[in-house]
Amino acid sequence: MTDTGTSLFATALDQFNRGAEIIGLPDDLRSILSQPKNEIIVNFPVLMNNGTYRVFRGYRIQHSNLLGPYKGGVRFHPMVDLDEVKALASWMTWKSALCDIPFGGAKGGISFDPTALEADELERVVRRFTHALGTNIGPDHDIPAPDLGSNAQSMVWMMDTYANSTGATERQSVKRIVTGKTLETGGSPGREKATGQGVVFCLQHWADEVGFDLSGATVSIQGFGNVGSATGKILQVHGARLVAVADHAGAITDEDGIDAFELADWVREHGSVAGFPKAMWIDEEDFWSVPADLLVPAALENQITAANVGRIQARVVVEAANGPTTLEAEKILEQRGIEVLPDILVNAGGVVVSYFEWLQNRSAQRWDLEDVDFKLREILWKACDQVVDIRSELGIASRRDAAYGVALRRLQVVYQQRGIFP
Ligand code: GLU
Repeated sequence: MTDTGTSLFATALDQFNRGAEIIGLPDDLRSILSQPKNEIIVNFPVLMNNGTYRVFRGYRIQHSNLLGPYKGGVRFHPMVDLDEVKALASWMTWKSALCDIPFGGAKGGISFDPTALEADELERVVRRFTHALGTNIGPDHDIPAPDLGSNAQSMVWMMDTYANSTGATERQSVKRIVTGKTLETGGSPGREKATGQGVVFCLQHWADEVGFDLSGATVSIQGFGNVGSATGKILQVHGARLVAVADHAGAITDEDGIDAFELADWVREHGSVAGFPKAMWIDEEDFWSVPADLLVPAALENQITAANVGRIQARVVVEAANGPTTLEAEKILEQRGIEVLPDILVNAGGVVVSYFEWLQNRSAQRWDLEDVDFKLREILWKACDQVVDIRSELGIASRRDAAYGVALRRLQVVYQQRGIFP
């Protein structure tokens, strides 16, 4: 459950059902795709530095592997629970299908606050979680990646633990068990900024379509972690102006523009936007009413709600986070003519570059950053084109419904050709 008390999986199912409806997905496929294939829960003990053992609960939800291995991040956050991870896992299936990359969908997580642990405790948690998952994950079976609260270092610990649990002859070939690793241990150039880069590519495509000038646009961003900060920096390079930022500590604004690079350094050092000297501190609630062309939620789910949607003055909501808009809020945005660029399209850059990392690991290659960015743009623009096409083919306004339509058609064709075993 989310902190607003609603089921995130119910939101995900509602979105799925609307997409299924518009393309006429047969009922049997609807029932199959309405549930994850596997729900794995592990409880495991970890030695804390005070000498006691703490039992952690971890999850890995494998939603679909029709198009390829299960794929998706692991989230370390106190709010992680079965309902949330099920929703996030299903969104991974649609993301990969929409981008036409050969992956299925999965998500995992551990319900705890990683910032409250010492580094060595955190390492033991990650390694013990990986060990507890055992052969439920695998380099061609289920491939984790970073998500909220986890990072490249967590992935390296997962990879090392997994590699050391396999036979000596396989130790090198299993590197692709996780993506989002550090460059030195087999990560891909461009993976760290990939989600933010993807957000900007999708925005460029949208701007081109609707005749909007991104250079000179004003932007407000909620969440200034990996995704929010990368998005802010890249948009700034393209001439946009960051006018407001909010995170767990509060919100800041400056209509002349906040330097995204300086703010990212500040947040890295101080853990939040609090105290950033070159902007004005505002009430968190007032963040939503700061006038900005682009509103980019890049934090947790269910942030744009019936309670704050009326204050939003943006032209477009850009869902860099997964599931940031509640169903009710989305209806109100539609009525008010504010567009929503949906999460499964806009934030898919992360998993697309994960796919590139996996390919590089398979062939023991290292691509250039230019190659990665070029191929990422190609894949995302193709997906954006298909969303535009299906909107006009089916005469629908919602870009989310359209994105689901493209993804679900792809799954439908494969189900039709493969059939359902036995
Ligand atoms: N956690 C990211 C997401 O939600 C990336 C997943 C991946 O790279 O597998 O899309």
